[in-house]
Amino acid sequence: MFIDVAKIHLKAGNGGNGAVTFHREKYVASGGPDGGDGGKGGDIVFVVDDNLSTLADFRYKRKYIAESGSNGSGSRCTGKSAPNLVIRVPRGTLVKDLESGRIIADISSDEPTVIAKGGKGGWGNTHFSTSTRQVPRFAKMGNPGEELDVILELKLLADVGLIGFPNVGKSTLLSVVSKAQPKIANYHFTTLTPVLGVVSIDADASFVMADIPGLIEGASEGTGLGHEFLRHVERCRMFLHVIDVSGSEGRDPKDDFEKINQELKAFGEELLDRPQIIVGNKCDLTDEQTVNELKEYFNGLGYEFYPIMAPIAEGTNELINKVFEHLASLPPVKQYEPDPIPQEDFTDNKHTFDIRVIDGIYVVDNAPWLLNVLNSVNPDDYESLQYFQRVLISSGIIKALIKAGVSEGDTVSVYDIDFEYRN
Ligand code: GDP
Ligand code: MG
Repeated sequence: MFIDVAKIHLKAGNGGNGAVTFHREKYVASGGPDGGDGGKGGDIVFVVDDNLSTLADFRYKRKYIAESGSNGSGSRCTGKSAPNLVIRVPRGTLVKDLESGRIIADISSDEPTVIAKGGKGGWGNTHFSTSTRQVPRFAKMGNPGEELDVILELKLLADVGLIGFPNVGKSTLLSVVSKAQPKIANYHFTTLTPVLGVVSIDADASFVMADIPGLIEGASEGTGLGHEFLRHVERCRMFLHVIDVSGSEGRDPKDDFEKINQELKAFGEELLDRPQIIVGNKCDLTDEQTVNELKEYFNGLGYEFYPIMAPIAEGTNELINKVFEHLASLPPVKQYEPDPIPQEDFTDNKHTFDIRVIDGIYVVDNAPWLLNVLNSVNPDDYESLQYFQRVLISSGIIKALIKAGVSEGDTVSVYDIDFEYRN
């Protein structure tokens, strides 16, 4: 079965905790703190696997949990970082946030993409000794890894999409111009899943053609199989619109052409702007005059028209060369940009937190929402720190710190960021 949408749950690994330990040696009265840091939790990383063509694997396994980092230990031993969890998907898979529908990433290139970040390890107590605090009984917990539900949606990457009614010969055409072997038979909906084929022009020129299951009237509203597959033509740079010139099933090819275009339009207006070349197939089943009339008709509408007989590859070379020529002048395959992360309102009462004073350090925690903010804060970047500061103010953290008695120069610890309090 062809599965091109899936819903899965991701949980990146937690960071390991920092250790509270002290150096001990025989005859040495009291050693200093030597608790090591926790290791980093594993990220969840998506990569393209060109051996996959569906999302079927995700029907059976829906939860993906990366390992946590190990805790730090004595003698300044840093805990082991956990390996990343790699999830393989077909090229062209969109990852969307389930809750907001936001596009997080388009997994189309060979670059691995981190979708859920593992938590950083907590600092061991070695970090917390100062001239005034020589026995820090304090270390940090590791940060939790990011956790989210995502929708995976496959949108095939192909330069050229074959569109047309069932049985007009789309699969036959793909089978003669590429090495792909789509199922061909004389009944509707032979093709149940999109099939990609590489069409080679010569040793170093090729393009990808997609055979999409036949579209029928109402496809965009969910009739037949078509609408499920319309999403796969969204990225095509151009279409080959295949018609049966003989009208062998009692249909009118001109009428078919209009109906298919209406379906494209109903699915997405911009699909109609994609260039189309009309492929008049099954020329063997009609006379030359009919073919010529259709050619004139479509030329009159502004379309190029190529007569072919797909099973014997008659006319297909000319067609393929023309397509290649066209592609050279068309924009590349559409890539989806991640949607911006919506600006959060930190003033509402959902953004709660606790403040504890441990060993003179003001620790802000129990605020999972802050982790998302911290993950995006770059301590070396001024703008980014300004943003962090605004969040601390608008969420009421600064007010609460003052209430708890913070004064100039005190250390404030917010998960893995420590700073000195300044008025
Ligand atoms: P699709 O549904 O558009 O993919 O159509 P298929 O490629 O599966 O072809 C449907 C039927 O039409 C099959 O029986 C093919 O053998 C037949 N067919 C395809 N092209 C031609 C052609 O040019 N001439 C004739 N006579 N039959 C064809
Ligand atoms: Mg087919």
